[in-house]
Parts: sequence; structure tokens; C-alpha cells
Amino acid sequence: MNDIEGLVISFSEINEADALLHVLTAQGKVTLKAKGILKVNSKNARGCQLYTHSMFHLLQSNAKTTHVIKSVDVIHSYRMVREDLLKQTLACCMMEALDKINIRETELDFNECCAYLQALETSRHPYCVFSLFLCMILRLSGIALWSDSCVICNTKQSICAVSLKEGGFICKDCFKPSVHRHFPAEKLRQLRYLTHADLKQLPLLESYGPWEYDIVEVLLGMLELHGEFKMNGAAFLGHLNVLN
Ligand SMILES: [Zn+2]
Repeated sequence: MNDIEGLVISFSEINEADALLHVLTAQGKVTLKAKGILKVNSKNARGCQLYTHSMFHLLQSNAKTTHVIKSVDVIHSYRMVREDLLKQTLACCMMEALDKINIRETELDFNECCAYLQALETSRHPYCVFSLFLCMILRLSGIALWSDSCVICNTKQSICAVSLKEGGFICKDCFKPSVHRHFPAEKLRQLRYLTHADLKQLPLLESYGPWEYDIVEVLLGMLELHGEFKMNGAAFLGHLNVLN
């Protein structure tokens, strides 16, 4: 194993000059050590940044130890994501989810994960791309939002709210204002489409906008309440929404 192609999903400094990277590859996640990466003149720094798709050339070593990076070629830096504060925050949250999600690694489709970054880069509806990504994470975690009927009584009529605790849609007969969050019909429709769509349907989904933070908030709420990890980047996303 001398070359590894992958996406940097976590970057942590381990001393004043070196960092450890978690890299998602087509074969799963690997940990790579980036020596000297924090020095100002490091030629490898660009390729080791979070959410960069790179080809890592490794030093020869015993397979048992952490692999050490010799040099890096950037395949895709997602420059337009880096130039936009909201997109950059969403990309960091996406990488955090990919890093923390605890499933069999073969269930994470490397090309699909890159395609989400590609979509984020070009889309004019970043919350739509991110919401779709969160639905994938919820589905893989086995905690998808139930959007086909009322999660309490199973009727398909008069759906008017979402229950995070019950994990799905709520009808007007089961609706309790103190515990459930009321949503207008068009928002519930967005949520329903999201839970049934994948990236191929993104252009169609985008046409059901405007896409706003409230949808993201529901999906993050599901992850926070029922998921196995907490996304640290979510708090910053909330602040960003308040500022906008
Ligand atoms: Zn009901």
C-alpha cells in the first residue's frame, strides 16, 4: 500500500508540527500521519485539509503502524465550498458525520460522499444538499424520519407536525403543541421528498424550495436525539443561521 486515494474526514493536531488524518477511501477509513504539516512551508498542507479529495503517497513502513504521508496530490479541493462560509460549515459537518458514524465501513459509498461535496459546491440550495445528506446518515444509522403516515396512529390524513421523540410525522388528531413541532404543508412535503430521495433527484428536489434551516434543524434534532453521536459543528450552523 504505497498510494491511497481518499477524502480527509478529520484532521487533528498531535503536536506543534504533526497531525493525524482520518481518510475515507473506497475500501473504508484509514488513519494517516502527516508529519511537519503544521509548519508554514509544508508542501503537503493543501492536500491534507479537511474535505479535500487527494492522492496520498506513503512512506514504506510496516503495515501494522500508522502510515506516514510522503507527499500528496490534490484531486479536488472543492474551492467553491471553501470560499463560502455556509457551504464550508456544512462540509465540515458532513465530514464530522462520516468520521463519527458507526456502521460497517463498506456501507459508506466513497463516490457518493464525494458526489455530495460536488453537489454542495455547485448548488444554489446548500441546505437542500445538506438535508439530503443528513437523510442518508439517518437512514444508514437506522433512524430515518418516518414520513409516510402519522407515526402514532398511522393515518395518512391531515398530517400537520413532526415529532422528534417519536421520529416522524404527526396528524392533527395526535398533535400536541407542547411536544410536537407544527409545520406548514409545503415544509412537510419537502421533508417527505427528502426522506425518499437520493442525490440523483437533487435537481428536482431543489425546485421544491425555498430550502431553509428549519428542515435542517429537524434532521439534526433526529440525529441528536436518536443517533449514536453528537455533531459538534451543528451548534455553529445554528449560530450562522441566526446571523443570517
Ligand atoms: Zn395520528
